[in-house]
Amino acid sequence: MAPKLEKPATDLVWPPKFPSPKVEVTAAEDWWILAAMNSRSDPWDLIVYNFQTRDCNEVNWCLHHLLGCRRTTQNGRNYEFGTPCTQKQYLYIPNPAWQPPSSADDDAWELVRSVLNTATVKGLYASVGEFGLSISPHDFSRICDLINTKRIAVRFDRHHPHAAEYVSASDTIILSELTRTAINRSMIVHEAVHASFDDRRSQGVYARVIQEECFCYIVQMLYLQKVLGGTWPSH
Ligand SMILES: [Zn+2]
Repeated sequence: MAPKLEKPATDLVWPPKFPSPKVEVTAAEDWWILAAMNSRSDPWDLIVYNFQTRDCNEVNWCLHHLLGCRRTTQNGRNYEFGTPCTQKQYLYIPNPAWQPPSSADDDAWELVRSVLNTATVKGLYASVGEFGLSISPHDFSRICDLINTKRIAVRFDRHHPHAAEYVSASDTIILSELTRTAINRSMIVHEAVHASFDDRRSQGVYARVIQEECFCYIVQMLYLQKVLGGTWPSH
């Protein structure tokens, strides 16, 4: 039996987004050995860190196309490290604090994705000449793309002090609630605008913090006005 291969449904980031030690792997290692060598009890931590999937067929696709694996396990269902292979094989080791996304993180990602990938959001345009700031459908499409491909991560943390927050140091949107109220959705839009300015900062475009914050609220309110049809929320 040959391994089943499936291209990952989400375009993966390879190598993983943040610099991490790269190790060469050979027939002497497998996922369990690598996990034990790096003080991880679950080999899936390393698989998810490298390939951002828990789907076995997608893992096989990654091993085949990214690592050049051709050697298969005894039952023939999966690839493993070592010869025959098409190249030297390397994997990345997450730092000890890194944790794989939980199912709640996945739910948060789905929520953010479903809120932003809408005609309402992608049709938002705002510009404040006084601040020299603007956001366009093009900017929202770019943020959607970064979220859809998980270059911007989404995490759920019920103890987080804000309903939503974009953290530029880790390119992550954190949600503390997973409800789809108009207010919560508007906060996701607010954070997406922060994410857009952060993205533009990496291209040398800067906004003053207070002006960026005001602008995010303006866009958030524009969004609310659109989804509530002009009826302002009562609280
Ligand atoms: Zn803000």
